[in-house]
Amino acid sequence: MTVHDSNDLLDTALIPYDKIFTTPNGVFVQGTVVGIQPNKPGGAVTLADGQELPYDALVLCPGSIWEGPLAFPLEGKAVPEFVAARRAEFNNAQKIVLVGGGAVGIEYAGEIKDIWPEKEVTIVHGDSSLMNSTYSARFRKGLEDGLRSRGVNIIIKDHVDGFPPPGPVTVKTRKGVVIDADLVVPTRGTRPRTAFIAESLGAGALDEKNQIKITRTFSPWETPSTPSSRSRLRKPTLTLLSSLQT
Ligand SMILES: Cc1cc2nc3c(=O)[nH]c(=O)nc-3n(C[C@H](O)[C@H](O)[C@H](O)COP(=O)(O)OP(=O)(O)OC[C@H]3O[C@@H](n4cnc5c(N)ncnc54)[C@H](O)[C@@H]3O)c2cc1C
Repeated sequence: MTVHDSNDLLDTALIPYDKIFTTPNGVFVQGTVVGIQPNKPGGAVTLADGQELPYDALVLCPGSIWEGPLAFPLEGKAVPEFVAARRAEFNNAQKIVLVGGGAVGIEYAGEIKDIWPEKEVTIVHGDSSLMNSTYSARFRKGLEDGLRSRGVNIIIKDHVDGFPPPGPVTVKTRKGVVIDADLVVPTRGTRPRTAFIAESLGAGALDEKNQIKITRTFSPWETPSTPSSRSRLRKPTLTLLSSLQT
């Protein structure tokens, strides 16, 4: 979607949440949770606009922080303009460096080569083979062979640390490989969007990767437990909270 308007996903991918509840069993609130107060009876979350929403049960699923062309703005109305700007960057660049050869980097390389076979695409990947060790060596080698056969350059066991703004630039990898580029795209994975959880529940709520520490029953590890919460549950009502309203 962010590379080109062919088969334009922008027409179908943005799904509003406002009609997600068809009966009065839930409500959608657009807002950003900035605080959690688990000690109040039942608990409450505070939104950036100051609103406070009480809860009996809180499900934490804040997703990830993405970079570059996947760092979509929170306001749905701003997404088309954001996507148009990213498409222009891909269109205007002849030499494109993708920093990270996971699913996203591979998908971008394939899309760019589909649309503009003549563009020079280089993937710089830190691991010894594309993707990661979750996948078999054979599968990873197959991906690499497929991309190379389509003219994608692949540099493995190396890293790029800086992300200059679009425009002609010389990129130097950690190992000193020099690459001319018009566009350097971060495709190096995500970070958990969990800072607000640590701010509310303390740093101990997160692990060393900033992921939420959980028990075997998916409760946050160090949150005051609510063993009696079941008996206090009001009539179940679901509040879907998202900072993103597409
Ligand atoms: C290019 C691309 C292609 C992909 N292709 C596939 C695919 O083919 N198949 C597949 O299975 N997966 C795919 N994925 C991955 C998939 O999109 C994610 O795994 C999935 O979206 C994760 O779901 P989630 O609910 O954990 O997080 P998200 O979908 O990120 O949802 C989290 C939501 O929480 C909101 N939020 C965060 N913090 C707060 C806060 N403090 N207050 C209120 N709201 C907040 C965010 O705004 C967001 O709306 C792809 C991802 C990308 C980028």
